[in-house]
Amino acid sequence: MPQRALVAGGAGFVGSHLCDELLRRGYEVVAIDTLLTGGRTNVDHLVDEPNFILLHHDAADALSVEGHFDLVLHFASPASPPWYMKYPIETLHAGSIATEALLRVAERDNARFILASTSEVYGDPAVHPQPESYWGNVNPNGPRSVYDEAKRYAEALTAAFRRSHRVNTGIVRIFNTYGPRMALGDGRMIPAFAAAALKNDPIPLHGDGTQTRSLTYVGDLVRGVLALADSDQPGPINIGNPREQTVREIAEVIVKLAGSTSEISYQPRPVDDPERRRPDISLARELLDWEPEVDSETGLAETVEWFRTHSRSAHDSRRP
Ligand code: NAD
Repeated sequence: MPQRALVAGGAGFVGSHLCDELLRRGYEVVAIDTLLTGGRTNVDHLVDEPNFILLHHDAADALSVEGHFDLVLHFASPASPPWYMKYPIETLHAGSIATEALLRVAERDNARFILASTSEVYGDPAVHPQPESYWGNVNPNGPRSVYDEAKRYAEALTAAFRRSHRVNTGIVRIFNTYGPRMALGDGRMIPAFAAAALKNDPIPLHGDGTQTRSLTYVGDLVRGVLALADSDQPGPINIGNPREQTVREIAEVIVKLAGSTSEISYQPRPVDDPERRRPDISLARELLDWEPEVDSETGLAETVEWFRTHSRSAHDSRRP
């Protein structure tokens, strides 16, 4: 019998890549998505795939999805700051009631459950790089708190279901991930820089650009998430690329790859924007035998090319 996976957020950027890889590995995949921030175009290529179905369904009602699942992946949540600030209550619900519903599906079916948590649980970190043992520096009621605190609650709930209901759970803390199928208008750094560069518009750079980010290619992330799913590790485990680059360097690489004449436009830093982010991936190396393989020049070249050819699709034109 093929294994069956429930992918909440399956029409999103990361969720759609997970669906692709699970199908490639022989799973039957049921994707549920409200299409709040994702889009059908992300899974259009799977419509004729007999082992795939996309249901327009809220993860908070996951218990009403028919069938038995071996693997439940919770990747349903607005993920970019403009989207989660536009939908603050939906974001809190994705971390709270949707997480609980999906955990109850996993409990009912004796399935492995994976929670997509985030480096945002570390907030503006006082420890660098961030190991999983660092508890974070999060403002509990600032504008970003709807996302950060929802994920911190989701982690606590997941750990509680493991401890008291014996659900086989795993938590992955995902660092800044990019790649094809990000929505051009979703406000995250890579699409924002690429959109501007491809139009030869000024590149909107927050602050002086000396703040750093570590960029993970989506294929590397999917490999890490499924390595965690295949293990019985509870996590949390960081999955991210430890190579740290300044935001200005990233902007310059994208301008070059796009063959653009864009100049940099310096803009104010958003509230609670973290200064530095870099994963400590010792645990992923040791427990999952996982390492990032795609360097940022290669991944960014592929991503900019994808934006060049897909920038007119309906999903890409959606904006928070
Ligand atoms: P995305 O916005 O592209 O995908 C999220 C998907 O979830 C969308 O398709 C959206 O419509 C759907 N969704 C939202 N609320 C829902 C609900 N209640 N029920 C069903 N579907 C719902 O974002 P993404 O970048 O693909 O992120 C996927 C997951 O990974 C999220 O949980 C996010 O917090 C996490 N994550 C992503 C990153 C990153 O860099 N991309 C970093 C850290 C964590």
